[in-house]
Amino acid sequence: MSTPPWARSAAGANTYDAVTGTVLPTIYERTTAAAAAHGGINLGQGFPDTEGPQWMRESAAEAITTAAGPTNQYSPGPGFGWFREAVVSHQQRHYGTDLDPETQVLHTTGATEAIAATILAFAAEGSEVVTFEPFYDSYGSMVALAGAQLRTIPLRAPDFRPDVDALEAAVTDRTSMVLVNTPHNPTGVVFSPAELERIVGIAARHGAVVMADEVYEHLIMDDAAYQHQTILTIPGAAQVAVAIGSAGKSFSLTGWKVGWVTGNPELVNRVRGVKQFTTFCTGGVFQYAVAQGLEDDRGFFAANQAELQTGRDLLMEGLAAAGLTPYRPDAGYFVLADVAGVTDKTAAEFAAELVAHAGVGAIPVSSLTLPSTQKDHDDELNSLLRFAFCKRHDVLETALNRLAAWIG
Ligand SMILES: *Cc1c(COP(=O)(O)O)cnc(C)c1O
Repeated sequence: MSTPPWARSAAGANTYDAVTGTVLPTIYERTTAAAAAHGGINLGQGFPDTEGPQWMRESAAEAITTAAGPTNQYSPGPGFGWFREAVVSHQQRHYGTDLDPETQVLHTTGATEAIAATILAFAAEGSEVVTFEPFYDSYGSMVALAGAQLRTIPLRAPDFRPDVDALEAAVTDRTSMVLVNTPHNPTGVVFSPAELERIVGIAARHGAVVMADEVYEHLIMDDAAYQHQTILTIPGAAQVAVAIGSAGKSFSLTGWKVGWVTGNPELVNRVRGVKQFTTFCTGGVFQYAVAQGLEDDRGFFAANQAELQTGRDLLMEGLAAAGLTPYRPDAGYFVLADVAGVTDKTAAEFAAELVAHAGVGAIPVSSLTLPSTQKDHDDELNSLLRFAFCKRHDVLETALNRLAAWIG
């Protein structure tokens, strides 16, 4: 059998054995399994080890088992009306945007489906798609599945700010899309309004659509260089950009897979055209609980942010004490740390030994880059490891003690 299109991408190539034709688990699943097998601690996959708000979980349970909310049958393809209104009201309160719930909001099965449907809607076959590197793994696979080519601009330590001049040079009339992820996974950088405005302008000049993945919008540390603004507030963005949000990261409910796309009616309609043939609809009862959280988070966003910030600082300190070079993120779930101070190995090799000998799982940043970047041994992205701090603080401490003892 020939190699499937998605496996020709960076993430895809890491999850497909071309010799046997076998699909392999993603780097996240492999790290999670390896950490479990070694009695270890998983700072690899970015999910919280505490549950989201109790009242949201109760409201979903009520909707499932009683007539409190929607039934357990199919929901409307674009999402329930009150769900779309809740997204509009959330965007209005946090960013001052004024969206039409009928035409400018689409419910999706997590941000993952939003990303898939958006890329399949706009990445024309044979075109180029430009993004910053490292990038969220599904971008590469979806661009490949659309028959387009991914081009990347590296984000560099210590501050990982986007090089917009390099982006400008990379975007041409062959470019169908520019993929932006802000706040950014895994670097934690929050793009500034000026950076976003330039990116939007560059895309617009070349007729490209901008997809802004904003799933970390509520996880901004209070010492961040910039606050988050949805891309739809940026001048010119209304014509060319769609924004993606998700309850998974905002409410620590990653298993619920409730996401949304916002943007102008024409663009959202195009995404809807794909989405209605992927899942058509999902999780009406979860839309019900998330709508309540979006209308009023009851202090969860602030409490969660404070908890994460303490975890970040704990992890930063411990990684530095163990001899690594951590870079302070402004947002998100992750600290990137350079391993060059403690080993000559690549971060991927180091991560494999770390999980096997110390039982601590972490993700090599190279798994979030193109194969060409992975092959370039001098590229500094290959010596970076991604550690998640969205974990209980006693778990972080145990991980750091093991790491220090093993390196020691
Ligand atoms: C977690 C994550 C997603 C996926 O979100 P879901 O709602 O769980 O599908 C998308 N983009 C980025 C950058 C993420 O970190």
